[in-house]
Amino acid sequence: MMEKNMNELMVRGEKVIMGTYKRFPVVLVKGSGCRVWDSNGKEYLDMVAGIAVCSLGHCHPKVTEAIKRQLDILIHVSNLYYIEPQIRLGEILTKNSFADKVFFCNSGAEANEAAIKLARRYSFNKYGENRYEIITMLNSFHGRTLATLAATGQKKFREGFEPLPPGFSQVPYDDLSALEKAITNRTCAVMLEPIQGEGGVIIPHEDYLKGVRKICDKYNILLIFDEVQTGMGRTGTLWAYEQSGIEPDILTVAKALGSGFPIGALLAKEEVAEAFSPGSHASTFGGNPLAASAALATLEILMEEKIIDNCKEQGAYLLEKLRELKSRFPSLIKDVRGKGLIAALELTVDGDDIVHHCLEKGLLINCTNTNILRFIPPLVITKREIEDACSILVEVLTEK
Ligand SMILES: *Cc1c(COP(=O)(O)O)cnc(C)c1O
Repeated sequence: MMEKNMNELMVRGEKVIMGTYKRFPVVLVKGSGCRVWDSNGKEYLDMVAGIAVCSLGHCHPKVTEAIKRQLDILIHVSNLYYIEPQIRLGEILTKNSFADKVFFCNSGAEANEAAIKLARRYSFNKYGENRYEIITMLNSFHGRTLATLAATGQKKFREGFEPLPPGFSQVPYDDLSALEKAITNRTCAVMLEPIQGEGGVIIPHEDYLKGVRKICDKYNILLIFDEVQTGMGRTGTLWAYEQSGIEPDILTVAKALGSGFPIGALLAKEEVAEAFSPGSHASTFGGNPLAASAALATLEILMEEKIIDNCKEQGAYLLEKLRELKSRFPSLIKDVRGKGLIAALELTVDGDDIVHHCLEKGLLINCTNTNILRFIPPLVITKREIEDACSILVEVLTEK
């Protein structure tokens, strides 16, 4: 496609697609591994991965194959019936987590919405109707539905959408005494991200999650981990909670679960899961044969091909390279942090300009919270690709 056509497509897009995103001036048409191509044939190294979605790289041949195979067998039936790929997916998720039971939906927000409902229903059954409040964290992100917005601890996402469902309060992240003080006899759950993703890759202190678990146990409160972004190997273990020495009661996952095929899941221990009975919650598409097959293939590849080991190894290398960048550009870079392949450069300046220059030079990178460059590449990334990304960043930061 000619450049003229790329511009023409963007103009047409502006006309009909709602402006919910500030889009970059590029039409992406193809992907493979850690690379994507625009409609002019220009190649980009992708450190965004569809926002932590394409963890196996773009169009992993085995995922593509699994989707194609299922396409010819059965695309959709209702959850009124048993679905084989969904059952197998449920088995692999429970076998490899704290959970006994799974509920499938189609996105991160839906998984969190289901988690909120499950926590409330569990509490309602056990303690009656006055125990429904959920404590979440400032600077958190849990989704864009009304309830998940009420849970999200960032004002900018809520403006103009109020009133939001009541029953949520926020406390500072990584602060145990603030959390304990906020608990009332109405509190039914605490919900948080093991690492805050959209909030800027905020990693809590070593024993924080353990402390949260302790507080929840002390007051008989459910602990919900939103692992929509940190799950599926991103932090160097299948689930981020594995590195904390404790387990949640409820966990949500979505982004990387289906390698880009939309699917989300809510995981819970048996006693909690029992609070959902027939009719109490549902989803038409949730865990349908096609989505479940995509996720099943994703999980199998993730574990069979030692991709999480690569994530740990390359994550350590990326952090080392980012620290080098910081010592080379001390006036531009304030902080470096990361775990596995979720990492950040906190800038002293606005990141927008840097992201645009990277794009021009063939590097896709994301900026969150205005000044935080976020690295969430495919977990299959190589040392060489990390080096290529960092050399582009050196060029861009040098010109700054
Ligand atoms: C992306 C994200 C969500 C929302 O997921 P959607 O699929 O966009 O609804 C929720 N929680 C966290 C931690 C996320 O990163």
